[in-house]
Amino acid sequence: MDILFCTSEAYPLIKTGGLADVCGSLPQALSAPGNDVRIILPAYPEVLEHATGLTSLARLTLIGATEPVEILAGHFNDSNVGLYLVNSPVHFRRPGNPYVQEDGSDWPDNAERFALFARAVVALALGQADTGWRPQVVHCNDWQTGLVPALLSQHEVRPATLFSIHNLAFQGLFPVETFTALKLPESLWSIDGLEFHGKLSFIKGGIACADQVTTVSPTYAQEICTSTFGCGLEGLLQYRSASLTGILNGMDCKTWNPATDRFIERTYNIHNLQHKLANKLALQRDHGLPRGGQPLLLGYIGRLVEQKGVDLILVMLEQLFRHPIQLVVLGSGDRALEKRFEDAAHRYPDRLSVHIGYNEQLAHRIQAGADCLLMPSRYEPCGLSQMYSLAYGTVPITHRTGGLADTIVNLDKTTASDYSATGFSFDDATPEAIVDTCVRALSYFQASRINWWKLVITGMKKDYSWPASAAQYLELYRDMCGLKDSTPENQGLHASSPGLILLNTERQETHIH
Ligand code: ADP
Repeated sequence: MDILFCTSEAYPLIKTGGLADVCGSLPQALSAPGNDVRIILPAYPEVLEHATGLTSLARLTLIGATEPVEILAGHFNDSNVGLYLVNSPVHFRRPGNPYVQEDGSDWPDNAERFALFARAVVALALGQADTGWRPQVVHCNDWQTGLVPALLSQHEVRPATLFSIHNLAFQGLFPVETFTALKLPESLWSIDGLEFHGKLSFIKGGIACADQVTTVSPTYAQEICTSTFGCGLEGLLQYRSASLTGILNGMDCKTWNPATDRFIERTYNIHNLQHKLANKLALQRDHGLPRGGQPLLLGYIGRLVEQKGVDLILVMLEQLFRHPIQLVVLGSGDRALEKRFEDAAHRYPDRLSVHIGYNEQLAHRIQAGADCLLMPSRYEPCGLSQMYSLAYGTVPITHRTGGLADTIVNLDKTTASDYSATGFSFDDATPEAIVDTCVRALSYFQASRINWWKLVITGMKKDYSWPASAAQYLELYRDMCGLKDSTPENQGLHASSPGLILLNTERQETHIH
């Protein structure tokens, strides 16, 4: 199959969070013989710095750009996956985070930037940029790409479209005037299109107009159809439920492998787990915490925002530190939460170490050195850190929601005795539940190291690599293109059939109008 994968970030070229991890590794997992997968990204400075072997493919005249926009072509991460970059310096060549300025506020022209990106994707999808290639499927990710299915839905002959929701809370909402300023087709201004309570919603373009919608775990797929997690879009998602699937993210087992990790103090695997202790001692040493195997060393890695439940950790520190527990925190986000963590680190210097900022190496060292990883997220579409921690033998302590519910088996009497447990979970995201669960983990840790190692090993043996999830995406792509029979011969036969594309247009009309 020919697949165009569009995203605003992909590791290792540019990363702000889990979206980049997924968009960096899923295309590579999809790229088996017979599949031609190509990623399209904005040409941010960091991307231009890291990508190699780029050539200039085309210059496109696009609405929203006063100059022709250059499309660069190359290969993604030295793999078989193709790479297209949308090179519009006025939109994308600026330092720092792709979405926000240094003070944490959104770039004021985000709507213009990602509308332009979407128009470049559409040109490519319709064969107007790379004349030698036309994808059968365009796979879009999160609000930054939401206009792609909306704009493509205006074309009778077009590729099938899939929109993946990685986090429904980020919607790309802009005032109605922006809709006019972006010169979007009038027909898209309706409650079946881009209008959301009088505002322009980029994410609605994806949810309402794509042929299929996915999200990143089966539990989150159910949750977003409820008013608690639906962020106001639950009605639309219920309406689209026949075309909504939850496919669990996989993890990149090359980058996150304690047996080969070049960032950590000492590599290890299930056969030499004693080496994990060297990582714990190194983490304690590096972060000014008393060294020793006895205290339960907790780690937190992630955005410091309300979604992640970090405020719930902050209010329970005093109770937590009555027990032999240490905590290393790495993250950035909400300035007020960052400050509260920094203040707390001064109050508990030999219990708490806090690192504000983004640090890939430290993330690996915490995964390797901690005994447990805390993830009290109020909601968690999938979550990758808990999968990495399973691979690193670092027992997750998680709120039972979204992908955390789908990946972590809580330790109780049954799961302890049949050795199926992989972590400690709680049902309500409250400070009390976090303390109780951490203390429960501590008791288990102190009671029997043999049982603890069994718990660790069960987690390390779990396979959350990409192949199973990639196979589900491929199945969905085939369905969308009417390729019911997935034998390689038939894929080739249908790939060149224009009838397919018309079939999808018809489907689109049945779903939406
Ligand atoms: P998110 O909601 O942020 O996407 P995920 O758990 O899905 O959460 O993915 C988070 C990813 O970002 C993981 O790879 C994690 O290691 C990484 N990460 C988050 N914050 C930091 C940080 N401050 N420094 C280094 N890596 C980070």
